[in-house]
Amino acid sequence: MSPDMSPDAALDERTTAPPRAALPPFQPPLADLGPAFFSDIALHPLPQPHWVGISQAAAQWAGLPEGWADAPEALEVFTGNRAHAGSVPRASVYSGHQFGVWAGQLGDGRACLLGEWLRPTDEQRIEVQLKGSGPTPYSRMGDGRAVLRSSIREFLCSEAMHALGIPTTRALCVTGSPAPVRREEIETAAVVTRLSPSFLRFGHLEHFSANGQTDELRKLADHVIDRFYPEARSPQAGVDEADKAHPPPTNAYAALLRLVSLRTADLLAQWQAVGFCHGVMNTDNMSLLGLTIDYGPFQFMDGFDPAHICNHSDHQGRYAFARQPQIAYWNLYALGQALLPLIDSQEAAVAALSVYEQAFPKALQARMRAKLGLTKAADGDRALMDDAMRLLAAHRIDHTLFWRRLASAVEGDTEPVRDLMPDRAAFDAWFERHLAALAGQDLLATAAQMRRVNPKYVLRNHLGEQAIAAARQGDMSEVARLLQVLQHPFDEQPEHAALADLPPAWAADIAISCSS
Ligand code: AMP
Ligand code: MG
Repeated sequence: MSPDMSPDAALDERTTAPPRAALPPFQPPLADLGPAFFSDIALHPLPQPHWVGISQAAAQWAGLPEGWADAPEALEVFTGNRAHAGSVPRASVYSGHQFGVWAGQLGDGRACLLGEWLRPTDEQRIEVQLKGSGPTPYSRMGDGRAVLRSSIREFLCSEAMHALGIPTTRALCVTGSPAPVRREEIETAAVVTRLSPSFLRFGHLEHFSANGQTDELRKLADHVIDRFYPEARSPQAGVDEADKAHPPPTNAYAALLRLVSLRTADLLAQWQAVGFCHGVMNTDNMSLLGLTIDYGPFQFMDGFDPAHICNHSDHQGRYAFARQPQIAYWNLYALGQALLPLIDSQEAAVAALSVYEQAFPKALQARMRAKLGLTKAADGDRALMDDAMRLLAAHRIDHTLFWRRLASAVEGDTEPVRDLMPDRAAFDAWFERHLAALAGQDLLATAAQMRRVNPKYVLRNHLGEQAIAAARQGDMSEVARLLQVLQHPFDEQPEHAALADLPPAWAADIAISCSS
């Protein structure tokens, strides 16, 4: 208000000025669970916060009002510097198996649940969590912080995965601060705001089971069922009675295990089909909702290699690309073990989780069939798929470019995909079989369909590195541009075609470890 304004004029100004978008108030997170499941924590402000990236798509998904990021408090709230209305900051406790070994208690060591929003359109609860917001009772020896590079990677990849149609936690924004954070070298701090209907992991249930806290175990399982798997309350519903190998679940908890196994099978099929390597598939990084969660040393493969290890710290290759589906199954066993006190028998638990054995290959074959443009299943499909992957593996052919260019080949433009192939004769022989399998289909429509499942743009490591390098110099425009392109991964976007090119030679030397 300017000093010479009368009170009436000031009132007029207030009513005619564009409305300031306020952030909706939070409701306390995990409120129906109680203190055995989390600790109330303090905020740990960071100095001089600034915006690094904002996803308006995530904001829209969460039902935030337009202009939310301009709300005067937004930057402070999403850096963890200021408590927002209704916020009760909490860190949850979980345990887990890390690299195949029981690791005991872990918990949100650098994550803080600010609260929940009720999405206006459908009343879906959305949890709002900061990552890198400072120490919690579960930080163990850690500083509770995250660095700029890993925060940008998580932000971009969460939103890229969502745009690819792959279940994932979302990322609303990243903020940065000049505060130093020590890793291999001194870096600067950043905070990612993550959104998800739930951040609960296999490790949450493992925690209470391993501690013999059966009442808490049941309470948590009931919470998951009531919120996310209400169909588990009718355990026999929707189960194929003719499937003698998998007798119907005997109770709601066996049904929960079965449903989580089915979602996990579908998730893994999607990862494998797009060439995504998670890198740290510990049970504490496995979502009970079947979402991709905890982006660390992940990678979208460039040259296809089934043995590819994207995590520099994974010396044994436990989480190599081709092992991911088997590791997910191992993790489901750990979840089944955790749920045993609530399930009548070991046999019932094994029957519930072993649906994965059929569901995963079935889901993967459906995805691969779509990638190949095949509209219906036929006898030779499997061999055609396997041989395509063998062709790629033999010469580390670029995974994303191969599938995208295959769509053009189906339309008659075979040279671009042949250009990727050192052994053209082998490709030509395979492609003849592919065309034979497509016989009778409209090839133009098929190619268009293939482009809707084979992305042109994925978050290759070198693209992330370039955006990070610019951000470190204070230029956030590359983060914004990359986000925008990755939000439409199936569109041609010719003006950004360079982002779909083969990686430069230096990309092979990028080493991403667990350190973040
Ligand atoms: P991650 O490998 O990132 O999934 O983390 C494994 C566990 O270590 C989780 O309990 C994290 O919260 C915790 N953690 C990772 N980094 C830090 C850190 N810098 N400070 C405190 N806890 C951390
Ligand atoms: Mg984790």
